Amino acid sequence: MPSFTFVSTANAVVLRGGTPVFVDIRPDTLNIDEKLIEAAINSKTRSIWPVHYAGVSADMQEICAIADRHGLTVVEDAAQALGSTYRNRPAGSFGDLAALSFHETKNIISGEGGALAINNSALMERAEIIREKGTNRKRFFRGQVDKYTWVDIGSSFLPGELIAAFLLGQLEKADEINSHRLTTWDNYFNAFVRYQDRGLRVPYTPSECKHNGHLFHLILPDEDARHEFIARMRTDDVMTPFHYVPLHSAPAGKFYGRVHADLPCTDDLSARLVRLPLFPNIGDLAERVVERACVHLDALL
Ligand SMILES: *Cc1c(COP(=O)(O)O)cnc(C)c1O
Repeated sequence: MPSFTFVSTANAVVLRGGTPVFVDIRPDTLNIDEKLIEAAINSKTRSIWPVHYAGVSADMQEICAIADRHGLTVVEDAAQALGSTYRNRPAGSFGDLAALSFHETKNIISGEGGALAINNSALMERAEIIREKGTNRKRFFRGQVDKYTWVDIGSSFLPGELIAAFLLGQLEKADEINSHRLTTWDNYFNAFVRYQDRGLRVPYTPSECKHNGHLFHLILPDEDARHEFIARMRTDDVMTPFHYVPLHSAPAGKFYGRVHADLPCTDDLSARLVRLPLFPNIGDLAERVVERACVHLDALL
């Protein structure tokens, strides 16, 4: 898995007794670098865990081919990628499993919550059991057993009905919500792309990917410039947060995980990235963000 991700990707592995092995990211998409995966595989490797950062899919064709060659499963962290596609298929439909998030920071929300997409039919029944607190209650409902009982580990992962109803409303409007985000994303892109020849980097989307406008980031020339940009935007009351502290450099990442090799792109890019405000009803704020950011970029670059 990449080190440039949220802690949940790694926690999921550690909670089941596994060791996350961190692989560097591609400098363009900030997704796991598919060219570096094979060198990190050894006899203990079980699974490849790409993350679709900012709703831009990782190179699933190459990643699934590597998994096939080595007999590994693929689990997609599609937390940010609901509504995104890769080669015209939904992100989250390529691996054996994919996790989606409905956390309040995502495109489609229910406050807290998420979904598991199961693309491997051999895992369906076990997923039902885990969801039913480790019982075969689903088989009981289907009349396949005459009473249900505890058969495996499980827990309580279900949302309540009020939350589910809220989420349904969001899902029914998913296209509209994503298209609002995409409009703002496009406006940001068009406003900042001209700074590229002055050392600013705007997001890159490979031609086989369609993203969902989940987040818009800029990469400043160095960490000092980022610091200065964030401080200047803050004086305008605009929050432009950076993103993940790479997991391999975090205390728990060092304790529970390991790196297969140095992660120069992760170290470099995570220190230079900022995110701009992006939410569906952003309204006039987006224009103000562009206006103030351009003033500060003109001064800094
Ligand atoms: C938000 C996020 C998660 C966690 O989602 P939860 O719904 O909070 O569990 C995991 N991975 C990535 C990449 C995320 O952005």
